[in-house]
Amino acid sequence: MLLIKNGRILDPASRTDAQLDVLLDGERIAQVGPSLAASGAEVLDAAGLVVAPGFIDLHCHLREPGQELSETIETGTRAAARGGFTAVCPMPNTQPVNDNASVTRSILERAAGAASVRMWPIGAASVGSKGEALSEIAAMQQAGIVAVSDDGRPIATARLLRQVMDYCGPLGLPVIDHCEDSSLAAGGVMREGPRSVRLGLKGMPAAAESVCVHRDIEIAALTGGRLHVAHLSSQASLEHVRAAKANGLPVTCEVTPHHFTLTDEDVTYDSRFKMNPPLGSCEDRNALLQGLADGTVDAIATDHAPHHPASKEVEFDRAPFGVTGFETALALGLAELVHSGRLPLMRLVELFTSGPARVLGIERRIAAGAPTDLTLFSLDHAWTFHATDSASRSRNTPFDGRAFRGAPMATIVAGRVVFRR
Ligand SMILES: [Zn+2]
Ligand SMILES: [Zn+2]
Repeated sequence: MLLIKNGRILDPASRTDAQLDVLLDGERIAQVGPSLAASGAEVLDAAGLVVAPGFIDLHCHLREPGQELSETIETGTRAAARGGFTAVCPMPNTQPVNDNASVTRSILERAAGAASVRMWPIGAASVGSKGEALSEIAAMQQAGIVAVSDDGRPIATARLLRQVMDYCGPLGLPVIDHCEDSSLAAGGVMREGPRSVRLGLKGMPAAAESVCVHRDIEIAALTGGRLHVAHLSSQASLEHVRAAKANGLPVTCEVTPHHFTLTDEDVTYDSRFKMNPPLGSCEDRNALLQGLADGTVDAIATDHAPHHPASKEVEFDRAPFGVTGFETALALGLAELVHSGRLPLMRLVELFTSGPARVLGIERRIAAGAPTDLTLFSLDHAWTFHATDSASRSRNTPFDGRAFRGAPMATIVAGRVVFRR
């Protein structure tokens, strides 16, 4: 038994914001209430801390199997735990691609021995994520996937997306798409605009994302399927999602901390500012901030994409896309969204907990009987993020050296403290 005393319970599912204690009995919450006592229970004093349901990251890359120089399930989930995440959804673009049940099973077997947090893998929508034949989606679901995606690239054609949605609908699996019109984006390394011209780097237009978002919404309307837009980055894409929601379509979306924090004006020749989708314009960022506030955005997801220094420390043009993100996500959310006065704290917690849970069709709450996955964080702990201190194997972050106020202080998974600051 573990008794969490004196914390500020913030539970978006029940709109609870109150000073309460939580008694954990193994895998389940036994009791929530004022001034609880339990003889023999270990006590964790959470005075001054927020106690939230366990954070869920809908989108990350753990690189195992196949690219263990960049990350492993062990190092990646340790970084996730340090970031306050209790469950992560690794994308299928490993080597081999997670496009069949035996790969899904082997990932979960490795996780059982090595992972600090829960692993909820995402299966490939098509064989090899090549955009040709449907993968073994039902068998992968039986093995443990929670969604499908060809992330790294879009689901190749509208016809294939229709098939995937028709197939996933009865299974209750969301289809997550990396929205990008490859013909428009081809060769681009950052967002097309005045900044890309000044830097002399080839840009991809914002429309490369939004035309694909529009396509996907049309197919969601055609099939009635569950569409989730990954790492949405532009104002036009957000408007498409807003309109789809207003029309009652089952469409959701996520935004990354780097897209709500930075813009293309921050891009230099430093490859730590290279990711896909690229950083958008100031107007795009403002639109994302609005969407995070008004409920158009359902979740904050990191798109944690580690790359070994040797591959990233090259010319901007030649570097792979992607930045790490687990350990800075909450602190960036607090800085840009809460301390700045843009969002209530309850809304930020929702974007890390019940928001992503709803995308997956599950519940997230702090109540008797609920799973004992909890994230404890401070609103004012002062610290500086140094990439060299990261638990990740990779260092490709644009936030190295940034000072923060507020941090995850303890991460609890299945009743076990897996990280304590
Ligand atoms: Zn992607
Ligand atoms: Zn990704």
